[in-house]
Amino acid sequence: MIELPEAVIIARQISKELKGKKIVSGVRGSSPHKFAFTGKHTDEEFATIIKGKTVGLARADGSVILVDVEPSYVLSLGCGGERILYHTKNETLPKKHQLLLNFQDHTYLTVTVSGWGEVRLLEQLDLPNHPHIKKNAVSPLSDAFTLTHYKNLFKTLPNNKRVSTKYFIISQPGIWGIGNGCLQDILYRAKIHPKRPITSLSDAERETLYHAIKQTLAEMVKRGGRSSERDLYNKTGSYQQFLHSKAVGRPCSECGTPIKKIQYLGGAAYFCPSCQVE
Ligand SMILES: [Zn+2]
Repeated sequence: MIELPEAVIIARQISKELKGKKIVSGVRGSSPHKFAFTGKHTDEEFATIIKGKTVGLARADGSVILVDVEPSYVLSLGCGGERILYHTKNETLPKKHQLLLNFQDHTYLTVTVSGWGEVRLLEQLDLPNHPHIKKNAVSPLSDAFTLTHYKNLFKTLPNNKRVSTKYFIISQPGIWGIGNGCLQDILYRAKIHPKRPITSLSDAERETLYHAIKQTLAEMVKRGGRSSERDLYNKTGSYQQFLHSKAVGRPCSECGTPIKKIQYLGGAAYFCPSCQVE
């Protein structure tokens, strides 16, 4: 699944590789997919609007990748389990895709959704109404994500509801762009169990978690994303997650205790039962 680090990497690559390319044609809907989020335009309208437009800069907004389509439109990609690929020859085009852009210089961009994902076109003016973008969200990779900003998130917690650390990070209030994938190593680094009530964290633990978020994400970006994910050139990242499905039963790198797995809040959670006590 594309999360913030991969969205950052792919957005950078799109800006570098595709900026200035003229779109000869755009095809959506050749392999209809129930969870390919398309927005308000029909596939026919999409084809009409996108023809003749030019690719601009791209940026990550959480796990969403926003690509300027000049003039006045934005193509929204990412956010799910899709593969977003650049092709220099048509032999590498996938048989099934939910988006195919043909550029004037005979190169291509394809998006193949698995699970769910964005292939949405919107007008620039409509961007504030994007359903998968939070208003005023602060990227944990940005300078604006200060310790003060992070500490203020704790003030938004409901008084009468028990909120776990996992829920705090991936849901409400949420750290923008982090999903169940990146979460695992963040909590491992901070030595916090995913079920720990967030309010039970001491001041020192809260700060440790803040630094774990910043450092883990920065390292993932530095290494071109996680090794389980692919970039625009179909290459995997080089960040090896410590906690993932194959880590179950393996010794913790800190203490040697076998790694455990539980199902929690709609996804697997991996942890060291000694370092991350519930
Ligand atoms: Zn351990």
